Amino acid sequence: MHKLKYNPVKCCICKKNIVYKFKNSKRTSIYPTTKGIYKLESYDVICKSCNLIYSNPEPTLQSQGRYYKNKFMNKKLIPDYNIKNQIKFIKKNISKNSLVLEIGSSNNFLINKLRLLGYKASGTDVKSKTISKKFDLILINHMLEHISNPKKFLIKLKENLKKNGLLAIEVPNLLQYRLDNTLVLSAEHIYHFTEKTLRYLLEKSGYSFFYKEKKYVSRKASIRLVFKNNESKKILKPSKKDLILNIKSYQNELNKFKKLKNKYRNLASKLNNTPSNKVIYFWGYNTIFLNIFNFLNRPKKQGCKIVDQNFNKIVNFNFDKVTKKIFNPNNSFSDRKKKLVVICSLTWAKEIKKNLINKKIKNKNIIVPKF
Ligand SMILES: [Zn+2]
Repeated sequence: MHKLKYNPVKCCICKKNIVYKFKNSKRTSIYPTTKGIYKLESYDVICKSCNLIYSNPEPTLQSQGRYYKNKFMNKKLIPDYNIKNQIKFIKKNISKNSLVLEIGSSNNFLINKLRLLGYKASGTDVKSKTISKKFDLILINHMLEHISNPKKFLIKLKENLKKNGLLAIEVPNLLQYRLDNTLVLSAEHIYHFTEKTLRYLLEKSGYSFFYKEKKYVSRKASIRLVFKNNESKKILKPSKKDLILNIKSYQNELNKFKKLKNKYRNLASKLNNTPSNKVIYFWGYNTIFLNIFNFLNRPKKQGCKIVDQNFNKIVNFNFDKVTKKIFNPNNSFSDRKKKLVVICSLTWAKEIKKNLINKKIKNKNIIVPKF
């Protein structure tokens, strides 16, 4: 199992390390990549001066770069965010022929749509090669919370934005984490923002606040703020009152996250107790699968089968000294052996379940974990 390299850091805004350390702050996530399995760790603190929640120690840029470069992503799938809102947001803010850059554009799904509509759009991965152009609008969607030293990144980004050009940033909203059942506390997230701390970070990085986009956001429980590339005249510093609120809200989520780990453990122990003539299938090779697999006993680890739509692209499944092949789900369920299928995909669970029922797997033999 691979690990990232970590360095101790200070608050990237205040350059100080005067913090409150959260209880239960150690978060671990296991992710598949094309180069094998990574175990990520995160330890959260909150800066008592500006209320920013950050991970200390922080992964080094280099090791983070290696991880994201090899992270397994499904390039074929359409994004799981609201693509219509993304397009409406762009239309509202800039005219055609404007230059748009999306950072962290994944499979360029949005970029290709925008090009068809007449925008000069480009996409790039996190921290990939330097771009020399200057853009009218830069879009950063659910990415800023992943990267080391966001202030340094944002200052550098000004080189690619025209004077008074727009920077639109969307991040998960710490004060609404409770509404989001996805993976907000994944150890990939090393920064946690409220509207106020996000705004403060941007203003301290040389941008001025333009407006808050309320209607056209790409995911629920998110904040989308739009900034202009010019120095802010007045900078709003988050208050002590907010500090207490942020500590309370985030501590709550950390406590819930600890319980989530127990849910993985409980599901695994249920699977450990299934009769040995029943073959356990996992549909979906992802972090949820790995978290459950982690708690299986050795015979179940060796006996289970993994299926994934991307079976032919995944290499090197090797975890806890168990090496396995990943199978094509389309021809994996035709034999008459007894099966129990665990659906690990959050996004496609409904479709997969329908598919399994068509393949004559009984409802009682399908598990859709609720997290
Ligand atoms: Zn600070």
